[in-house]
Amino acid sequence: MTRKHYRACNICEAICGLEIEIHGKHILSIKGDKKDPLSRGFICPKGTALQDIQNDPNRLRQPMKRKGDTWEAIEWNDVFDWVANQIVETQSKYSNDSVGVYFGNPTVHNYGSLTHGVPFSRMINTSNHFSATSLDQLPLQMACHFMYGHQFLIPVPDIDRCDYFLMIGANPMASNGSLWTVPDVPARIKELKKRGGELVVIDPRKTETAKVATTHHFVRPGSDALLLMAIIHTLFEEDLLNTGHLTSYISNTNTVKEASQVFSPESVSDLTGIKAENIRDMARKLSSTKRAICYGRMGISTQVYGAVCNWAIQVINVLCGNLDIEGGTLLTHPAVGFVKPGEGSPGHFARKHSRVRGLPSFSGEIPSVVMAEEMLTPGEGQIKGFITMAGNPVLSAPNGVKLDSAFENLDFMVSIDFYINETTRHADIILPPTAPLEHDHYDMVFFLFATRNTVRFNQAVIEAEEGSKHDWEILNELSSRIAEKRGESFQPLLEPSMLMDFALKMGHYAQEPGNIGALSIERLKENPHGIDLGPLKPSLTKRICTQDGLIDLAPDVYIVDIERLKKELEVKIDSKNINLDLKLIGRRHIRSNNSWLHNTHRLVKGKSRWQLLMHPDDMKARSLEENTEVKISSNANSVKTRVSASESMMPGVVSLPHGWGHDRQGVQLDIASKQGGVSINDITDDTFYDKLSGNAALNGVPVEVRATES
Ligand code: SF4
Repeated sequence: MTRKHYRACNICEAICGLEIEIHGKHILSIKGDKKDPLSRGFICPKGTALQDIQNDPNRLRQPMKRKGDTWEAIEWNDVFDWVANQIVETQSKYSNDSVGVYFGNPTVHNYGSLTHGVPFSRMINTSNHFSATSLDQLPLQMACHFMYGHQFLIPVPDIDRCDYFLMIGANPMASNGSLWTVPDVPARIKELKKRGGELVVIDPRKTETAKVATTHHFVRPGSDALLLMAIIHTLFEEDLLNTGHLTSYISNTNTVKEASQVFSPESVSDLTGIKAENIRDMARKLSSTKRAICYGRMGISTQVYGAVCNWAIQVINVLCGNLDIEGGTLLTHPAVGFVKPGEGSPGHFARKHSRVRGLPSFSGEIPSVVMAEEMLTPGEGQIKGFITMAGNPVLSAPNGVKLDSAFENLDFMVSIDFYINETTRHADIILPPTAPLEHDHYDMVFFLFATRNTVRFNQAVIEAEEGSKHDWEILNELSSRIAEKRGESFQPLLEPSMLMDFALKMGHYAQEPGNIGALSIERLKENPHGIDLGPLKPSLTKRICTQDGLIDLAPDVYIVDIERLKKELEVKIDSKNINLDLKLIGRRHIRSNNSWLHNTHRLVKGKSRWQLLMHPDDMKARSLEENTEVKISSNANSVKTRVSASESMMPGVVSLPHGWGHDRQGVQLDIASKQGGVSINDITDDTFYDKLSGNAALNGVPVEVRATES
């Protein structure tokens, strides 16, 4: 019988509603759900590819145990005992920190991995907890923690009502938004321009978003912090401050003024590559336009001044009166996870430090740039055993080559994952959870960052195969066996939908009089397209979580780090030799998602897109022709790939996409392994990072490029 199912896509942050037509277990079609109040029928090519993951013969359906260079299927019961033994024995022999944990990005897209993964990680009780956060948005969480008192008080752009949008280092036309759940970006940008609004994009590449913007400025990689400080400088110098309803809620404005004094637009113009008059124009428009936004993402986060950039963007939105207003940046009102004083985990900084390099923790996580050295450096606390969940750090973390050898060095490794990829090929045991369409779904994270308040819960589309286990079942069982071996008691956690039912019934909409009333899983099941909870609205003044109830515009850590930024003003740019001093940046493509989704034929077909992009003048300076094989060398390593000329690149900047290079030995991804390309993270550098937050600097990496035959 043919049936229609409605559910959210959980591949990326846009959480688009899907309409899935199915016959038995056979998927006939996947389309956008026109009745989804957030995505309004939008879908990208990756949503359709969910069926390829479901049907992928390479997707593991049973636990696998390594036997030399081969794998054999093993019973769940045996495998749980083996894993629990390894963890307990290793921790007893050395210390708790001798077992490390890495949670990859898909963890936050699967609610069972969150509801049960966080308690599992607590049970492992190791300081060596790593995740994709410190390869991505850690500096934003840190800025919100220090300024608003909570790492998840993250304001998001209200694009549907704004008239001036300054976007730095973000490419939502390809990513569909990040730390900003905003499906159907193309239509939203069109609507912005139709109502006379401006979108100004700052990026070292004329990205897909820059191409549809009203204005694009190239910026030299790593100089965004100078640009942002120059905007702040202009706001003070030209008396453009307009803090509106937040005026009595902010502190330390004068400290920001003093800190910004040396960063005039004229002093940063050559360094950023942006004319001083354009920088001043940005400051004036941000201040004078009634509904304006300053927003930045990966390009400003994964770089050497990631922390300062994220802080400065928040400061600009406050100083221009654009924070907490309609058409500016606003907090969301999610059904679960509503942040207010006394709720959730506000975050903490530098409670611990990494053993070898001494990098600070954030909210209990050690920066992932130290993962390899913590495995490779002997001594007390050295990581001997490792657990990965839904992550592929060999392709996602800097210096993947070093991580490859670090994983080889371990006493044991376990991966909760359904692919044998570049990372999990090192594991002794792989525990595969069910595929996305085989389990129910509630988005615990991305409703927190959505451009409109909505809520939905979806049941599994396809019945899970007999004998398979959901992620939360794997985690429950592992926790239970570990407790048993330690002689501790353990009460298995309820299944995620029951936990969410409780959270919904206790959530924001149950507590607010006059609201839509309590939500529940039952009520959401009756509304499979989701429920619209309305547009974003101002609420920050009641939700600031700092001790004094004020927004701290100048936390000490940032003011201290600005001294480091000031030294950049002394750098001299030799514009005649700019082509000889190359900086490497990443890039995103709509048909790709981090290091995965290259094993689906529909997403890799057509013109290959893994080439190194380089400006034609930079190619000429090196006598390179189109498609020449080049060697790219960084401080960390070198790789060989093909180069392609692109006028969209800023001279002096080259770009490789993230997540390619699937030809490593032992990878069992039949389609992905046949693709060309190399991993950008073989040449990013684990010693190149943001000194304040410890976040990886994956953009702006100094490299040298030359023809391989020269
Ligand atoms: S943009 Fe694409 S991948 Fe992301 S949620 Fe929507 S359909 Fe899925």
